[in-house]
Amino acid sequence: MSDAAVRAVRAVRALIAARTPPALAELSPYVPDPTPVPVRLDANEAPALLPTLDEAERACLAEALSAVEPARYPDVRATALRAAIAGKIGASGDSLVIGVGSDEVIAILLAALGRGVDGKPATIVVPAPTFVMYRISARVHGYDVVTVPLDADWDVDEQGTIDAIRAHRPAVVFLATPNNPTSGAYDLGRVRRIVEAAARVDPPSVVVVDEAYLPFRLAEGDPWRGVTGLDLLAESSHVVVLRTLSKIGLAALRVGWAVAHPLLAAELEKVRLPYNLPTFSQAAAACALGPLAPAIDRHVANVCEQRARLLSELRRVDRVRFGRADANFVWLGLEGLGGAEATSALKARGVLVRNFPAHPDRIRVSVGTRAECDRFLEALRDTLAGGRA
Ligand code: PMP
Repeated sequence: MSDAAVRAVRAVRALIAARTPPALAELSPYVPDPTPVPVRLDANEAPALLPTLDEAERACLAEALSAVEPARYPDVRATALRAAIAGKIGASGDSLVIGVGSDEVIAILLAALGRGVDGKPATIVVPAPTFVMYRISARVHGYDVVTVPLDADWDVDEQGTIDAIRAHRPAVVFLATPNNPTSGAYDLGRVRRIVEAAARVDPPSVVVVDEAYLPFRLAEGDPWRGVTGLDLLAESSHVVVLRTLSKIGLAALRVGWAVAHPLLAAELEKVRLPYNLPTFSQAAAACALGPLAPAIDRHVANVCEQRARLLSELRRVDRVRFGRADANFVWLGLEGLGGAEATSALKARGVLVRNFPAHPDRIRVSVGTRAECDRFLEALRDTLAGGRA
């Protein structure tokens, strides 16, 4: 390295140390495993959608995309998409904040709600384990993070969460239900009582009910019997519901949204960058919610069918344990085999899954097509039998 390059490195290190919040030093960029593995069951995506579309559906999507004029900025309010979402969920357009995935909506919420209480930094309360972006985004925005471990059945710890809310008066409590990575929906009564407790602290805490995986919960044996976060929002104005198109076959679009009381949504809109949602995504998402809706429903139904089949196959595999699976993935415990070990053995057999260092005996496996699930089952049986890849 030249002297000038060495000086630049020193100067930039000093700049970073002096100018970035200490929380950045704890974080690392999110980098999914880039290995080209034939079966990818590591990211909770749906299987490929295009091969399932008929000719008319493909033409409809192609037409929506080809009508996009690239010289113009996107529609700031995403008018057509807003109307499509509002119509689908029966909410008013003014209650929606649409983001580049629900990841962006989480960041918008945290940017807007960052005022601390009594001179202390703002805080979030989250179960553990749960979706990592709550913690990462909160740290980036200067929040403290209080975690409350899930109970032995991977359900939310009602008393622990209520105690944490009373002790810390958090700006936001994040409840993903079904939860990632555990796949189970939290008990509805517990969630309701947590929502009530959050309303009673001064100032009240916002409770985010993140329903990224709702379509898979609604499909069969729904533990909430059709109740959704929107019902909780109708009962309690400090609830914010998160939804996304990412899990149902449209992850490439990066479209997610919050549903909130319109007054709160108006505050969040001040934080949202004006042209956040590319026109291509607005057009494709409006099409997906309109003419493509039957194709998306078929896709979700297929995943649910494969989930049921996968679970019944897994019941017949020795040394495998699992609980509720209300989302499009399963949270598996493997006796006598570590999660990291299992993940690399499965990868060597062409199947990518996720392991979690904080839960070394577990892996998370997304539900894929029938062929992908079979390939996973075969690789798992082989791994457990101690075969060589
Ligand atoms: N919420 C939960 C619970 C998730 O698991 C995920 C994705 N893994 C997201 C939100 C983010 O989804 P997206 O940004 O793709 O909408």
